[in-house]
Amino acid sequence: MGGPLLKNYVDGKFTAPSTRRNLDVDNPATGEVICQVPMSTAADLDVAVQAASRAFLTWSATPVSRRVSYLFSLISAMRRDEEELCKVLVEEMGKSLADAKAEMKRSVQNIEAACAMPMIQQGELLVGAAPDIDGEVLRLPLGVFGVIAPFNFPAMVPFWFIPYAVATGNCVVVKASEQVPNTLDRIFALIHKTGLPPGVCNLVHGDKEAAEALIDHPQVAGISFVGSSKIAKTVARRCVEQGKRFQALGSAKNHLVVMPDANMDECVRNMVTSCYGCAGQRCMASSVIVAVGDQTYQEVIQRFTTASQTVPVADPLDPAVADDPMVMGPVISAKNKSFIESMIEIGVQEGATLLLDGRGIEVDGCPGGHFVGPTILADVQPSTQVHTTEIFGPVVAIMKADSFDEAVRILNDHPYGNGASIYTASGYWARRFKLEVKAGMIGVNVGIPAPVAYLPFGGQKASIFSDIKAQGRDVLNFYTDARIVTQRFWPEK
Ligand code: NAD
Repeated sequence: MGGPLLKNYVDGKFTAPSTRRNLDVDNPATGEVICQVPMSTAADLDVAVQAASRAFLTWSATPVSRRVSYLFSLISAMRRDEEELCKVLVEEMGKSLADAKAEMKRSVQNIEAACAMPMIQQGELLVGAAPDIDGEVLRLPLGVFGVIAPFNFPAMVPFWFIPYAVATGNCVVVKASEQVPNTLDRIFALIHKTGLPPGVCNLVHGDKEAAEALIDHPQVAGISFVGSSKIAKTVARRCVEQGKRFQALGSAKNHLVVMPDANMDECVRNMVTSCYGCAGQRCMASSVIVAVGDQTYQEVIQRFTTASQTVPVADPLDPAVADDPMVMGPVISAKNKSFIESMIEIGVQEGATLLLDGRGIEVDGCPGGHFVGPTILADVQPSTQVHTTEIFGPVVAIMKADSFDEAVRILNDHPYGNGASIYTASGYWARRFKLEVKAGMIGVNVGIPAPVAYLPFGGQKASIFSDIKAQGRDVLNFYTDARIVTQRFWPEK
């Protein structure tokens, strides 16, 4: 055990929870322990939810313009401290500094979008809904919301939810990922300095025990969850049983379809970024390439393999590579590394051709790091384990389809439907792709079709277990109740 022990942020103060159970958090590039994170208990959760419930009484009655004024202050603070926050993020998560900066920008963009709440939280009025009767729709906050986050975007994913929940007049209890708790710890120190009233935003550290206690707390109105599909499904079921609202976004296995008319130079560069950025640990990372036609398949195999060999694998904070946007860092843990390596072996056993093997890679100065190099499995067949399983590492499956229709079938038969992209110069194929492919986020010559903060973010099929997505107008509906008022006044006597 080593490093400082983090505290929860509850009722406007950083306080130690009652738990005695703590976990080490390591730097995945070096294996060195950075800090310890407390595993809060149900009792610790209760303290946070009670604080949020108390704060809700005055926060929900605070004018919306005043509510967003704290968010404006937070934007300034996060911009000012961006460099330091990015270093903290990279140290605990292992993505490149360029990726961390992009993540921080998207986090801030979500706060900016929530600052529009005085405009977008306005209700509706139907004059003359019936004779002498008007119908009115009010958008009212509901109470306390829980946010449960995954490890791969320590800042951005929580900010798909926190600013909107708070701007609409709710209070939040956030459970950070136990694997990357430092980034939110630092951001909550900035939230504290904005002068936000105590209890409006609370941060609780912990694992499954804390997450389940948050979902089950009777004073929690709803849950915004992002993580693996296996857990997203249990979160959805738990919320339904208790009559709570939920957002539950899950796993992904995103496909890139390369048509014979694709601009191959641009496409290969773009696919390399999509597949290996963040060591393949983005929910929008692509991990399957489907080339249409023999010639395209051969060209993709040859050019993508050559380009993959040039991806530098290193500690992203090593000054020699820190400015290189292409640098690929480690995967999050020794456990994930060993799972990824076992999936490569399964791919080989299933008959795929291992064109590039990232197992056993050694990175100078990082003997304890969790590195896997770029890996390519070609001749992958649909429905094999290596095709259907979310590997969440830098492992790319390449498949061949004889036609556009066969490519679409491969994508649509797949259990996940988060993102999907096509590379083509033809508007005809692009249009058919966006209309026929069952995925929530579609790219046309864009390898990572992650929507900006003003648009909804979420997939289809087993990539989501709620009908409400993150970001955009969807969250306004999620965090507010539509109260419908039907009113009539008789003439005064
Ligand atoms: P995970 O499912 O292991 O953990 C996510 C969170 O759930 C963590 O905070 C964890 O403590 C908590 N948790 C653990 N057990 C729980 C339980 N029983 N009930 C409620 N919460 C519980 O995911 P991860 O490994 O941290 O993140 C990677 C996964 O997240 C990948 O599958 C990735 O595709 C997915 N992801 C999806 C999106 C998206 O937009 N769909 C975005 C980011 C990440």
